[in-house]
Amino acid sequence: MKVAIIGAGPTGLLLGIGLARRGHQVVAVDRDAGPAADGTWARRGVMQFHHAHGFRPQIARVLQREAPAAWASWLVHGGEPIEMTLPDGTLSPAGVRSRRSTFEIALRAAALQQPGLRIRQGHVEQVDIDRGRASGIRVDGAELQADLVLDASGRASRATRNLRTGAHIGGPCGIAYVDRQYRLRDGVPTPPMDNPLAWQGEYDGYQVIVFLHERGTFSTLIVRNTSDRSLVPLRHNAAFDAAARAIPGLAAWTDPAVSRPLTEVLPGGPLLNLYRGQRSSDGDLALPGLIFVGDAVCTTTPNFGRGITTCYLQVGRLLELIDGHARAGDIVDRELVAIEFDAWCEHNMRPWVEDHRRMDDALTRRWDGQDIDLTDRLPSDLIMSAASQDASIRPAIVPYVTMQGLPSCLDEVEPRAKAVFRTGWRPPLSEGPGRAELADIVTRAAAA
Ligand SMILES: Cc1cc2nc3c(=O)[nH]c(=O)nc-3n(C[C@H](O)[C@H](O)[C@H](O)COP(=O)(O)OP(=O)(O)OC[C@H]3O[C@@H](n4cnc5c(N)ncnc54)[C@H](O)[C@@H]3O)c2cc1C
Repeated sequence: MKVAIIGAGPTGLLLGIGLARRGHQVVAVDRDAGPAADGTWARRGVMQFHHAHGFRPQIARVLQREAPAAWASWLVHGGEPIEMTLPDGTLSPAGVRSRRSTFEIALRAAALQQPGLRIRQGHVEQVDIDRGRASGIRVDGAELQADLVLDASGRASRATRNLRTGAHIGGPCGIAYVDRQYRLRDGVPTPPMDNPLAWQGEYDGYQVIVFLHERGTFSTLIVRNTSDRSLVPLRHNAAFDAAARAIPGLAAWTDPAVSRPLTEVLPGGPLLNLYRGQRSSDGDLALPGLIFVGDAVCTTTPNFGRGITTCYLQVGRLLELIDGHARAGDIVDRELVAIEFDAWCEHNMRPWVEDHRRMDDALTRRWDGQDIDLTDRLPSDLIMSAASQDASIRPAIVPYVTMQGLPSCLDEVEPRAKAVFRTGWRPPLSEGPGRAELADIVTRAAAA
């Protein structure tokens, strides 16, 4: 079967490798030319490319199964698999420390070596239609024929926008952040972490996260409400440095004796919680022969690092369905694949978007000074916080945090968490300035 993939990001490349390994003829088209001769990669149009990424164990598992050469390439490029000790003393994979750029460079290097997969530079303008079915894609004015078109063009996903008119869930999440990459100095011990991938601090009106990557590199994030203009100056290096000095948990990482910056401050674009299925407004498939996948289906706020995991769970499922619906030769029942994939995403992806929407709505209200709303279902982050006060909540949290269960695995303990908050208890804040004080610090530093 001839397959055309719109987008050669993490989703498009893994799908391309997986399908080519099954004997299909695959072309993945991306407007990006790939890394420059000197190894640098600006990756315009994918704002998160240089931003913090945490990689969950599911990503490693799908790669090992569907693209073992890409997994090997990631390790060669520096990806560091990490393990954690479970309560019973056994070791379990906890993810991979890596910058997003390191991951994608390694994945692309493996994809370029994959027989049956071609990566072509070009802008996909539209999906071509013949007798009501996708017949290929139009790339810079030229037709590229295909039996199956996969839209892996990411969260902005414009080329097919007019086709997918069905209901969307979500939109901008109300949260924004700035990011800066550093490298630990040689011989300096790693500062304290909350889990094998990250350290996190909660403050009055904002949040700070550090993601540890490979070979001592790490990213620092200061997260705020989009509506909060007082922290906008953080996008200036001097203001970010002043904030980093003033927040003790962050200073432990960014003190010049501990690390040195690798980048300028990287302002983030709008963050989304967005779910879009495979359908048009009349309930039919948007277009037979076209399947949306990856961020083009499900995007969540990045603070829990779920994005590439949700993409790779989708890729794993889509490849299973393609295997399961193969007809004679290499032809696949594409409509059945799309319908079953849509049903699977409704059940397994949409709940994550709904979960993040609830959390982000509540978080932005708390950062605006409101108390926790105990009349509604508690958001998942607060249920997790309450586990510090009621140990019986803890077992339900493990499948949620590790994404081995869906967010509904917290439903059973939600009333217990609510009982904790009804006592008047609130999650303690980390030591550091509140939002007004931080705003003052960064405004003065930016003006100096
Ligand atoms: C700020 C931020 C931080 C994140 N942090 C994490 C994290 O910690 N952990 C995690 O797992 N996930 C994280 N994510 C999510 C993760 O980055 C995405 O899930 C992932 O990039 C989605 O991969 P994708 O291949 O589906 O889409 P993309 O990475 O967006 O790739 C889409 C590709 O399609 C191309 N394209 C689009 N339209 C066209 C067209 N018309 N013609 C040709 N090419 C086109 C683009 O150039 C791009 O290369 C984060 C996201 C953001 C925004």
